[in-house]
Amino acid sequence: MTVYKKAKDLSDYLSDQKKKGVSAGFVPTMGALHQGHLALIRSSKNENRITVCSIFVNPTQFNNADDFRHYPVTIEKDIEALITNGCDILFLPSEKEIYPDNQAVKEYDLDGLETVLEGHFRPGHFQGVCQVVDRLLNIIMPDRLYLGQKDYQQCKVINKLIELTGKQNNISLTIEPTIREEDGLAMSSRNLRLSVEQRELAPAIFETLLFVKSNFLNRSILQVKAEAYSFLEGKGFNVDYFEIANADTLAPSTNINDPLVAVVAAYIGTIRLIDNVILN
Ligand code: AMP
Repeated sequence: MTVYKKAKDLSDYLSDQKKKGVSAGFVPTMGALHQGHLALIRSSKNENRITVCSIFVNPTQFNNADDFRHYPVTIEKDIEALITNGCDILFLPSEKEIYPDNQAVKEYDLDGLETVLEGHFRPGHFQGVCQVVDRLLNIIMPDRLYLGQKDYQQCKVINKLIELTGKQNNISLTIEPTIREEDGLAMSSRNLRLSVEQRELAPAIFETLLFVKSNFLNRSILQVKAEAYSFLEGKGFNVDYFEIANADTLAPSTNINDPLVAVVAAYIGTIRLIDNVILN
């Protein structure tokens, strides 16, 4: 695996490869890699000649300074895992490489996606996600981009970004299923920050999502949502939202004929976890 730290070196190399018809798949990450990330690497390996992974803890997408400061960094282990899984290129940029001094800050028009759910509770988060992904896509120009369903709303936002920047004919987006621990907890770099007691509590998030999936057709959606919310609060979670939403627009929905997704964000102590399941 080759490690690139400079955007220009990487984009020169990859555009050369592109001219030779070599396909490239891209997996953007913030590191502290786990099996969820590595499943994306393996999918890219199966479908592309070159697989590029980036590790960059993007400051502009953190609306909470403490969360940014404590975000886990395990770079030596990450490099080992990437090599073991056959990743070809790791892009490991400094902040200046992603946000050079002369680069204007763009505003992205994300419509309703920016004001609901994560957008509502994390103001500015998706603008930050778009800034970093726009820059990374311009450097790497992949044929295929791999994202995890774990961050459902982020997938929708990045799909929109690809449209907004006119890249929809050049980049195909693949969304891979959420990889979970044996007890159902969605793998997340932030899980590393859970205490033993918090880790024991954490699978209740997925349990609640499964409860909703089994019950939303035989009770009213409003009722099932309220039960899910109070179940989690009763267990000691501090719930930002537990919502049943239209799976395309992410607007709240009570119509069982809509494509539906149940989405949740909840704190255990100071650690904020998110998860989702498709309902129908
Ligand atoms: P992150 O490092 O958290 O920014 O995540 C990088 C990519 O990995 C994003 O596309 C995430 O959705 C994806 N990802 C994170 N956790 C999981 C998981 N448990 N299963 C599948 N994909 C995941």
